[in-house]
Amino acid sequence: MTELEAVIGLEIHAHISTKTKMFCRCSNDSFGLPPNVNVCPVCMGFPGMLPVLNEEALKKGIFAALALNCKIQKFSKFDRKNYFYPDLPKGFQISQYDQPISKDGCIRIEFESDDGNVGKDIRITRVHLEDDAGKLTHVRDGTLIDFNRTGAPLMEIVSEPDLRSAEEASSYAREVQKIIRYVGASEADMEKGMMRFDASVSIREKGSKSLNHRSEIKNLNSFKFLEAAITFEVQRQTENYEKEGHFQKEDFTVGWNDEKQEIYIMRSKEGSSDYRYFPEPDIPPIIITDKQIEEFKKDLPELPAKKKARFMKDYGLNEDDARVLTLDSLTADYFEKVVKICGDSKLAASFVLTILMKYLNEELITVSDQKVTAEMMGKLLKMVADGKISNNVAKGEVFEEMYKTGKDPSEIVKKKGLEQVSDTGEIEKACKKVVEANSEIVADIKGGKDKAIGSLIGLVMKEMKGKANPKIVDGMIRKML
Ligand code: ZN
Ligand code: MN
Repeated sequence: MTELEAVIGLEIHAHISTKTKMFCRCSNDSFGLPPNVNVCPVCMGFPGMLPVLNEEALKKGIFAALALNCKIQKFSKFDRKNYFYPDLPKGFQISQYDQPISKDGCIRIEFESDDGNVGKDIRITRVHLEDDAGKLTHVRDGTLIDFNRTGAPLMEIVSEPDLRSAEEASSYAREVQKIIRYVGASEADMEKGMMRFDASVSIREKGSKSLNHRSEIKNLNSFKFLEAAITFEVQRQTENYEKEGHFQKEDFTVGWNDEKQEIYIMRSKEGSSDYRYFPEPDIPPIIITDKQIEEFKKDLPELPAKKKARFMKDYGLNEDDARVLTLDSLTADYFEKVVKICGDSKLAASFVLTILMKYLNEELITVSDQKVTAEMMGKLLKMVADGKISNNVAKGEVFEEMYKTGKDPSEIVKKKGLEQVSDTGEIEKACKKVVEANSEIVADIKGGKDKAIGSLIGLVMKEMKGKANPKIVDGMIRKML
């Protein structure tokens, strides 16, 4: 039988983080507001109103495009995309058609293919700017409409059909999310509807270069839906091909019904001619000079892949740890501050990754939503590095108290009397006691089982309630034997 492969391209719509909407002064934050209070004559499309381009949205769109390795176009313009729909008061969307703000990007996704290859380049066709429509809510007796987000700034990121599976599509979408968050271009919060996907799916004979008729699955608003819908559609087209002996004969626009876990057909796919695109007469073209592009590049924050490589090199971290620490810039900044204060990157990585993250994951919050600041964490680890408190005491009692109360670690250590004992007299007493009481272990060690010394150290630590300096204990026991 012919071997088939899936051909998938993604369009990602992401809300741009700005104070105001794309072409008017309405706030870009309608979260929690009652419906239809955040509107004005411009975003409602009243006759005679003049839209004005939001500079902040333009700048952030360019940041996103640069971060996705796109070429910024020196000349770009806006166009009207005409269609009728109740959520579109103007009767058209202001978008970019043939001259978008940027083209020809590419990002690398970390993806393990069947032949064991890690990493794959996914080409990006373009990133362009446009405004959002309103929100329709279908209820039993009709449809409700909320125009609060009408006119909100969007960027649309279009990929080439380089993706070959639902997993690849999802890992590409996650990478894009990470990148646009990093550069502050979008919060890309799926739960708040700030990022959504349209996936184009077709199949072909493996190795073929042709692009067959596709289904465009609209408005997938979670990674889970994205994967489920693509998996379903690839399967559906494959079964049809096996039954009918040919590929899909036209393009379809389809939706995903998550309750039924199936695709439903919305309409046969519209071509660009259906939209009667023409240049937006009220907004002048955008001209960007080489010098401005250089300035944008200078202002661009460090990107995840670069940061990860730097963390591995500068802090001696393994790839996994570096990857997790650089998943978002908040955590990465936090980690770097902690290292600066305590001077021990391995210790800092281990505390941030295993202790702090365990607490954060339980509550599903980020480093900025909790009480242990980087300064406090740094101080705590400095005490560990200096041998003032033991690692276990720091991990346990002290951190827990810091996390709960936000109190300074040195205060907690003093109050609870947790300082590590380096007083050799006291440690010697405990060691003697343990050595005398455990003649069997001592005999083992003398018989060559050097590892058994660990259990003696453990017993001494227990005797001293975890407060002895384990290095001193180790030295002292060796001396005694
Ligand atoms: Zn407005
Ligand atoms: Mn769009």
